[in-house]
Amino acid sequence: MNLKMAEAPHASVWDEVEVRSRDRIEADQLCALSRQLDYLARHSLHYADVLGEAGFAPGDLGSFDDLRRLPMTGKADFVASVAEAPPMGRFVAAPREDLRRIHFSSGTTAAPMPQFWTQFDLDRWADLYARNARAQGVGPGDVFQCLFTYAWFVGGLGATMGYQRAGATCIPAGSQDTERQIRTMREFGTTALCGTPSFIIHLGEEMLRRGIDPAETRVDKIMVGGEPGAGVPATRKRIETLWNAGCFDAYGCLEFQPIAGECAHRQGGHIAEDFVYAEILDPETHMPVPDGTPGMLVVTHLDKQAGPLLRWKTNDIVVRDSTPCSCGRTHARLVGGVRGRADDMLIVRGINVFPSAIEDVVRSIGGLADEYQIVIDDTVRETETGMLKGIRLKVEAPGGTSADTVAAEIKRVLNIRAHVEIVPDGALPRATHKAQRLIRH
Ligand SMILES: [Zn+2]
Repeated sequence: MNLKMAEAPHASVWDEVEVRSRDRIEADQLCALSRQLDYLARHSLHYADVLGEAGFAPGDLGSFDDLRRLPMTGKADFVASVAEAPPMGRFVAAPREDLRRIHFSSGTTAAPMPQFWTQFDLDRWADLYARNARAQGVGPGDVFQCLFTYAWFVGGLGATMGYQRAGATCIPAGSQDTERQIRTMREFGTTALCGTPSFIIHLGEEMLRRGIDPAETRVDKIMVGGEPGAGVPATRKRIETLWNAGCFDAYGCLEFQPIAGECAHRQGGHIAEDFVYAEILDPETHMPVPDGTPGMLVVTHLDKQAGPLLRWKTNDIVVRDSTPCSCGRTHARLVGGVRGRADDMLIVRGINVFPSAIEDVVRSIGGLADEYQIVIDDTVRETETGMLKGIRLKVEAPGGTSADTVAAEIKRVLNIRAHVEIVPDGALPRATHKAQRLIRH
């Protein structure tokens, strides 16, 4: 495909740390880990206890393997710490007057949990996002319209700080008021967007409905995040075709902003290895898996001040490639983005399937709309064991594709049985923020 962004005049290395040798990267990480452990022992009530209980002095860290003597940190630890010392919890590691920002988790599974940033942390965050922006080719002269939500969500402000630093003119637009988004985009000649893949697709479709072709706008670079999307080949292709623009995966979570971002070569997001130390572990045994093997991503802050986390379980399944990228950057890449949530993995008659793999099949079949819903209920569970014998899948088929065709394609590609139901056009919810497409009953 000949995308509008082909020339990418600004696609350059923002920071020389992005091209250091692997040996240097790892040596720097080990030093930074040592420093961070020392900082935690002195400033974090939670980790002072953890280190004490493990009998681990910060100076004990001689290799990356030593880090595995320490327990992983999960959401439950955070929730417990806030319950013990509300509202800040025991992870906060900087004086209250040094905290400059608090963001909260979405609170879908537990009460919203706070995360903190000092001025140093905010500057670091902005710089890392500027690095991503520049790697996509965004710089002075670009008009960046940020379609991530701002209220109670970490994405909007984070991306805006970074793109601003990279030199773009920023429009903090949020993810509402489609009409105004389109008008602004055309009047101000927006060249770069970011948002969730769901909203970017939704907006493009709304434009088509109004007789405006998104591919004819000046938008040529789209960063997506907040849900898997750019990592799903058919979804990336859908966005790139709809907008005739390059689609770049950005990956982070509330606790780690950001973790990885894609360069113009789009071979998986480069991990910010000077900001996070990443372990890819077998979800069952918690032992490291080699590059190329899917595993759970566990991340440790290397220089965070306000509330650093040690061995944070993201629950995201990823595949790492540490060979240099064609762009020249040496920071390892997460190939194919986030493959799925460890919790969302479906095991259907012994076959591991992530919802993203089903999305890829749905979006590569002609005649279907982009929305779909996977429903797991008793009709697809074995009565005795509760194990899955198949999935239920709801799709819309404006092009007249039959349920049998969809089921056959799922069987062919993923080797699982799907009970496919064609629902009326527009019946499935359109996601404007984060899509919820896996429903368990
Ligand atoms: Zn690259």
